[in-house]
Amino acid sequence: MRIAALAQTLAVLTLAWIPMDLLWLDPAHSLRVLPLRVAMASVLLSIARGVARLPASIALTLFVWSQAIGFGALQWQVGPAPHGAIEIGYGLFPFVLVAQLAVLPLPWCRTVLAALAPAANLVAKLLQREPEPADAWSEAWLFVLLAATAAWAGHAQLRLLFGLLGARRDAAHDALTGLSNRRSADARLEAERTRAQRLGEPLSVLMIDIDRFKAVNDHWGHAQGDRVLVALADVLRDELRGADLAARYGGEEFLVILPDTGIDAALDVAERIRQRIAALHAERQDPALAITASVGLAELAKGEDAATLVARADAALYAAKAGGRNRSVVAPGAGAAGASLRADV
Ligand code: GH3
Ligand code: MG
Ligand code: MG
Repeated sequence: MRIAALAQTLAVLTLAWIPMDLLWLDPAHSLRVLPLRVAMASVLLSIARGVARLPASIALTLFVWSQAIGFGALQWQVGPAPHGAIEIGYGLFPFVLVAQLAVLPLPWCRTVLAALAPAANLVAKLLQREPEPADAWSEAWLFVLLAATAAWAGHAQLRLLFGLLGARRDAAHDALTGLSNRRSADARLEAERTRAQRLGEPLSVLMIDIDRFKAVNDHWGHAQGDRVLVALADVLRDELRGADLAARYGGEEFLVILPDTGIDAALDVAERIRQRIAALHAERQDPALAITASVGLAELAKGEDAATLVARADAALYAAKAGGRNRSVVAPGAGAAGASLRADV
């Protein structure tokens, strides 16, 4: 995006400089640079348009080298001794190009590599104009300073972006289990509810709560209790499809969102999960994982909001607890007669 914005701006500036050429250069020179400027602007506009479809490293290489070559050709055409205001437009090309790198979030080595393009531009300019050694050194020194600043700025931006991405990921996930947290589950549920109602597709949710979990903590200790929560999260990740979402909704309570799933299919999923949880201690040969869970299910009713859907699943969960635990209970739908139940008891 930044390369596209820069390329677009530079294309406009390249054309906007034409009156300066006509004003400051002699007619022969200005006629020679005019087609070059138009060509340069078209190349930059093509880059701006096509950059989103290219891999970032190719886009960057194309962006810096097309400028170095294009603006280098302009410099060459103008000749060794531009003067006055025109020096700003031609003498500063390498510096303008290296300064652009500062707005791109890149690892410092990538910026240094990209700076080779304007460096080549600077060398060509110094060879062509043969300035006093002191002037050549001061230009080279200024260039290195700008390149180092651009490398540092790009690297700092990259670190900041990764930090922000990490923070965003952490803010949406539960630190213990790695599942989505309640906030992101609520947001996803609202999005799925809107989608389901718009397309007339079914949507179901499961509310899963570990049975007598307090006793697990009391008997095995809190750290072991944590391992139980992690093992349950593994079961959820294992059993669900990519389109489903499992979230740690409370302490030992998990919400599962099943898009495009009616209540019968949701009950099959709930039972599969419940039976896997009940078999965890055997599966992992760990007596501390001898737990069961209860599940409340609800399917989205017509015109229902997300909070009511979750509240119905919660009520079904409490019915499962009251009915003896280690079972799945379906919440009665709008107008249905009563809850249905499945358990191995
Ligand atoms: P029920 O069958 O009725 O659900 O009984 P329960 O003991 O599971 O329910 P209760 O709500 O009384 O207890 C939940 C326990 O979950 C209490 C709390 O200490 C424990 N818990 C909540 N969050 C965590 C956690 O992050 N780690 C551990 N180890 N325990 C937790
Ligand atoms: Mg519980
Ligand atoms: Mg609970």
